[in-house]
Amino acid sequence: MKKMLIVTLIVSAVFVSACGTKKLSYTAGTYEATVRGHNADITVSVTFDNSAIKDIVVTDAHETKRVGEVALNEMPGKIIAAQGLGVDAVAGATITSAAIKAAVAACAKQAGADPEALYKIAPAAEKAKDETYEYDVVVVGGGIAGMMAAAKAHEQGANVALIEKEGLLGGSSVNTSGVWQGNPDNSDDAKELWIKAWLNSQNEVTAVGFPKEEMIRATADISYDSISFLKNIGLNYTVRHQIGLDKTALNTAGGSKASGSIASTTYVIPDVQDTKRGWKICEVLNDYLVKENIAVFLNTPGTKLLMNGDGSVAGVVSETKRGMKTFKAKAVILCTGGYHQNEAMMKKYMPISAGNYSASAIGNTGDAITMGEAVGAQVYDNQVVFGGYFVFNPRDVYRGGYAYSDTIPNTLYVSKYGDRRFKEDGHAYSATAMYNIYGEPTFVWDIIDSDAIASIAIRTDMYTIGADEILANKNGLYEVYKTDTLAELAEKIGVIPTLFLKTVEHYNDLCDRGVDSDWGKSPQLLEKIDKGPFYAIKGYSCDRSTVGGIVTNVNSEVVSQNGAVIPGLYAAGDASNRAFYGGAYLGASGLTVASTRGYMSGRNAAQYALRK
Ligand SMILES: Cc1cc2nc3c(=O)[nH]c(=O)nc-3n(C[C@H](O)[C@H](O)[C@H](O)COP(=O)(O)OP(=O)(O)OC[C@H]3O[C@@H](n4cnc5c(N)ncnc54)[C@H](O)[C@@H]3O)c2cc1C
Repeated sequence: MKKMLIVTLIVSAVFVSACGTKKLSYTAGTYEATVRGHNADITVSVTFDNSAIKDIVVTDAHETKRVGEVALNEMPGKIIAAQGLGVDAVAGATITSAAIKAAVAACAKQAGADPEALYKIAPAAEKAKDETYEYDVVVVGGGIAGMMAAAKAHEQGANVALIEKEGLLGGSSVNTSGVWQGNPDNSDDAKELWIKAWLNSQNEVTAVGFPKEEMIRATADISYDSISFLKNIGLNYTVRHQIGLDKTALNTAGGSKASGSIASTTYVIPDVQDTKRGWKICEVLNDYLVKENIAVFLNTPGTKLLMNGDGSVAGVVSETKRGMKTFKAKAVILCTGGYHQNEAMMKKYMPISAGNYSASAIGNTGDAITMGEAVGAQVYDNQVVFGGYFVFNPRDVYRGGYAYSDTIPNTLYVSKYGDRRFKEDGHAYSATAMYNIYGEPTFVWDIIDSDAIASIAIRTDMYTIGADEILANKNGLYEVYKTDTLAELAEKIGVIPTLFLKTVEHYNDLCDRGVDSDWGKSPQLLEKIDKGPFYAIKGYSCDRSTVGGIVTNVNSEVVSQNGAVIPGLYAAGDASNRAFYGGAYLGASGLTVASTRGYMSGRNAAQYALRK
């Protein structure tokens, strides 16, 4: 075996080709490698002849739809064209891109080449160039708000471009469960009920001056139109009623107890079986943009707004190392999402949550705030962060794994001290909000006994990780402990032993009585923690997204620091969502705000631009 390796290494010597580019030599053949992707293992098969990479085929992968999937499709072609691994990752899907490179490197090594040398081979750098374009409306950001805005502005007759800073469209929207709210039959009664339910939902965790009823009302007014628009362009959905925030945990944290959920009409996409249907909405919108030839510029971050002398918007600039693209436009719509991925901004607006794991898309860096403030836009001085999930593997926080799941409901969750702070079958939003309310965005321990352990699993739309795999912890992704006694477990996980043992004893007592008088967990999920060996898995608290951004009015126009609108400047979605909430998230409202305000801003911006 060793001998063979030496022989192959000699064969793999680097040679310099006639044109001066370094090329590698390979032992011709097809090789296979399996590497860790973003969500799970990826297997890649690579065919080499003596001097070139001829083919790269991804034979097994479970990456996120319309995210990692884009890298799976694009990276092989890029690597073959460059004959090297010094190619750029697909921005927005860097982990999957890196995994493909790692797999090709592993295959190259099997073929006798030096992977390090392969990483150094890059396509010739393109010369930076400046370009100028002219449109009626330019939309900045390609999540649901941006795609809706572009689609609607185009439908109104405007000449539209959408610029997106990542290498793919979708933002946070692509990763949602694809459930959103609306007015089902355009009736006034349904609308009023919906507005009332929305406002009621915000009474539980209040914030002075928020939400703004007129903004919710304006959104409800066009909800039916915006949903009909989605239907007309090909989105298949069904109506599902009664979904909302589980309020039990939040209320208890606030001092009083109540339970129940908020009734509202919600829509769901039926023909997609997984739990993340958001990609389907993005796909339908994306297909519409393609079909209608709407200009989409990927890898094109909006960096600066252009203004006319009269204070109206004149366009937007995208300045990168590849050069400067100037988009002259009569109207610009900022749909850049929230800012949870911008640590400096988090420290400024939400210091308590700065440094938390984030489930927001990597592009959510608050660029609407940066660009808007630079031209005098008003920024909400009261901003909020919504908690979201517990994850066993913080690597899965961003787009994947356990991120959208609730807790494992038939087990016991304790804080880092050892006390129980929420019901395990409550919504994960409430559970993480609970930790944030305590001023400790932190982790929890999931306590499991040997009766329950076999049933635990991390379930995603693409794959399931069962108990065996979690406990084996092959890739060191989880923090898992197993002990014979609860006292030993307490010591291992660092909780206060007396408090922890009391918590378990009390919890077991509730199980015996069949009533969770502390938090109201369903009786059938009250399973005692009494059969060793005992297990603890660390779950990390992870925020979902930010609520704030720049101030807009009922027409989605951006408001300046002096209270007047900035003519031609609009914003929609998480870039300007503060007005819709007090201090609590309302289940399935993010997409509602993004899609409806996107629709509204596209319509209004187009009408403004065409009048100008
Ligand atoms: C994990 C998760 C699950 C969720 N589930 C649900 C759900 O089931 N239902 C629901 O209603 N809501 C849900 N939400 C909330 C919902 O995702 C958001 O409210 C909504 O998607 C926001 O859409 P958006 O278009 O404003 O932002 P995004 O979808 O984040 O899009 C913003 C886009 O702008 C791009 N961008 C940023 N800066 C620039 C720039 N300078 N130039 C160009 N482009 C830029 C970003 O790259 C991104 O593509 C969820 C959120 C998360 C994080």
